[in-house]
Amino acid sequence: MSAALLPVASTASVLAAAPEKKFKHWVWTNPNLKDTAEELALRYRKYYEAGIRGIFFEHDSEVHFRAAKAQKLEAHYWIWTMNRGEKSLLADHPDWYAKNRNGESCAEKPPYVNYYRWLCPSREEVREYLESVYEAALKKDYVDGIHLDYVRYCDVILPVNLWADYKLVQTSEAPDFDYCYCDVCQAKYKKLTGVTLKEIEYPEASPSWRQFRYQQVNEVVERLTTLAAKYKKPITAAVFPTPDIAHRNVKQDWVNWKVSGVCPMIYHGFYKENVSWIGTAVSEGIKALNGKFPLYAGLYLPDFKNDDELSQGINHALVNGAAGVSLFGDVTDASLAALKKGSIK
Ligand SMILES: [Zn+2]
Repeated sequence: MSAALLPVASTASVLAAAPEKKFKHWVWTNPNLKDTAEELALRYRKYYEAGIRGIFFEHDSEVHFRAAKAQKLEAHYWIWTMNRGEKSLLADHPDWYAKNRNGESCAEKPPYVNYYRWLCPSREEVREYLESVYEAALKKDYVDGIHLDYVRYCDVILPVNLWADYKLVQTSEAPDFDYCYCDVCQAKYKKLTGVTLKEIEYPEASPSWRQFRYQQVNEVVERLTTLAAKYKKPITAAVFPTPDIAHRNVKQDWVNWKVSGVCPMIYHGFYKENVSWIGTAVSEGIKALNGKFPLYAGLYLPDFKNDDELSQGINHALVNGAAGVSLFGDVTDASLAALKKGSIK
């Protein structure tokens, strides 16, 4: 072959091509119904060029989903799972809501904020209700997959950077934020273990009670995973940053799920960590998953001081084994440039 026939790649095109080949990046967004078709076409084309391959839409907007697909992006429907405050549920099924260790229900007394309306994951009616919600999404031809969020218990411990906002010091598990102690959970636990929960002096320190609660959410995820498989569509989830923090703060056991991928929210500022911690957290997740399914590092754009830091954060995630990143926040042209730059190993 003569030299003239060799493909000549400029540095710029190598840089542009790199993320396309190796990584799959995502964006979390709440579709703005005022966006025009022209704006969306331009925005999503830029996303694709930067290496983004999918969008998690927090609401159903056929226009947005189809505009994304027209630019070769996957359009996934992002739906909250256990935290559900719809008026119809609160009015018709207050008994479906989780109760804390004081016996207070999220239907009447939501913890921390008014929108914290956690359902009890142990109840069959709750599981069936969630299946109906996700099945309605899966049935739509323009929905490429479902994305779970708040698929866990209420935070018994908040990320440390939020403690001051709520005037709390959460170095132990307070009864106000520890769920679910409803009758159904207690009866189910008794049936499984033979132990009466009320007879345990410090239930928050009981490994079997903790494991029981991981299992309840795991079973919800299993049901939704089976449902997604029926429609041959992927199921992903936004989860807590590391397996350890997920267990400790929100009783979430994502390592044991069988989903298509997870997006741990490695929001370093929430935990008062620096950017290099993104790599540490990714590495912990990757080791625990042992290749079971891909991990996409969720990054919180407002936590980065500048775009240089953002590209470093992205790089920390990718060199530690993430299959891509998922961006939350205002994705600007500068963020896209940082994404391209950070995607070079
Ligand atoms: Zn319960």
